[in-house]
Amino acid sequence: MSWQEKLDHYMTGLEKRNPGEPEFRQAVYEVAASIFPFIEDKPIYHEAQIMERMAEPDRIITFRVCWEDDQGNIRVNRGWRVQNNNAIGPYKGGLRFHPTVTQSILKFLAFEQTFKNSLTGLPMGGGKGGSNFNPKGKSDNEVMRFCQSFMTELDHYIGADMDVPAGDIGVGAREIGYLFGQHKRLTKEFTGVLTGKGMEFGGSLIRVEATGYGAVYMMASMLECNGESLEGKTVCISGSGNVATYATEKINQLGGKVVTLSDSSGFIHDPEGIDAEKLAFVVDLKTVKRGRISAYADEYTSASFYAGERPWSIACDLAIPCATQNEINEKDAQNLLKNGCIGISEGSNMPTEQAAVDLFQQAKILFAPSKAANAGGVAVSGLEMSQNSARIAWKEDELQLMLKDIMQKIHDQCAEYGRESDTHVNYLKGANIGGFIKVADAMLAFGVL
Ligand code: NDP
Repeated sequence: MSWQEKLDHYMTGLEKRNPGEPEFRQAVYEVAASIFPFIEDKPIYHEAQIMERMAEPDRIITFRVCWEDDQGNIRVNRGWRVQNNNAIGPYKGGLRFHPTVTQSILKFLAFEQTFKNSLTGLPMGGGKGGSNFNPKGKSDNEVMRFCQSFMTELDHYIGADMDVPAGDIGVGAREIGYLFGQHKRLTKEFTGVLTGKGMEFGGSLIRVEATGYGAVYMMASMLECNGESLEGKTVCISGSGNVATYATEKINQLGGKVVTLSDSSGFIHDPEGIDAEKLAFVVDLKTVKRGRISAYADEYTSASFYAGERPWSIACDLAIPCATQNEINEKDAQNLLKNGCIGISEGSNMPTEQAAVDLFQQAKILFAPSKAANAGGVAVSGLEMSQNSARIAWKEDELQLMLKDIMQKIHDQCAEYGRESDTHVNYLKGANIGGFIKVADAMLAFGVL
């Protein structure tokens, strides 16, 4: 069988075993399409069924989460933890609270996380979890009661050397505080069982900035390899949460101009650029006032708000999607290319649909996939785990250097495995192969598990 036939056979089996899970299928295909040609002349990985084993989570835990709202009504949500693979370290990956959360989405995220964590070079396996709970519009007390109930169940399955969750969409500093408090109360122990913690209780400096900063460092490294820099570049960013705001901050610091931000209600376009003062307005709007991005256009007359649309029709040199999965479709990719976009760094997880990825690949623009581009967050989470275990706290400048160094090494691994000619690196292929090798070789060492 050729590698293409093996890939087709593999995907047919995967779809049969995982019906109705399109996001999971998409994520596995994106990796498998790079790995099957790479292992064509390496039979040991085929004989050991490594790809089959990697796409079968170690376990998936689901549980009921009951809580009481402020009116005294009983509410019921579903919670999950997908423990995908712990070949190279404890399961590690965020928790997502959003009404669109399904098992398929968490399986795709846990699968991706396994490769991403491997790329960081730190000892972390892959996992992901969350709930279909919607924190939007809930009072702090409702969020607290939900988090306490969620942790009461999750607590059976996590531990500092077993599984270390973190934040993701809908799980920020407030939620991590409530979750950690409940864990501490249940176990009577103070260990680094969650990352993204507050600085008062074991958090790490630069964790909040790390994902957005890292996605920009990745872009800067790709540009540098092509004799370019961020200086003077116009950048479209989506989202207005943690990743989007810190990506904007770093672009500003490195001399670029960010002209868009968005949320699930639409996007704003500010041709004059979103400078530090305007960004502070966005952070206050989204994290303190918990408002909508349209308020930006009410505040700044230079900006327009486009309801229900995504920012990819706006002309830019570079795009950094930072909202959610599948937020760039084929038409968006055509628009970006037509308007002269030369680079994409995926801040959010799997933001680009397969047809759009194909277009970027054919156009040979700089394309950093999320498992490489947004690995800065989990890398600093890994450093938070190290600090907690050693009961130390590194200084900000030390951590900044470590983050930059890890992102550069991720870039270099992608370049090593993805170089296709003197002038072109396929970063997608490079990230997949770079992430695969370490996990696969560890699995081989353990025998049949
Ligand atoms: P936040 O919850 O802080 O922000 C998410 C942003 O995306 C909000 O602006 C939100 O808008 C928007 N959004 C969410 N869902 C949708 C949707 N269906 N359509 C349009 N917009 C949407 O999350 P983060 O910034 O932490 O995460 C963003 C992405 O980055 C996710 O894919 C996450 O998995 C990924 N990521 C995050 C890391 C981190 O360290 N935080 C690490 C690695 C990856 P609204 O306010 O309307 O909900």
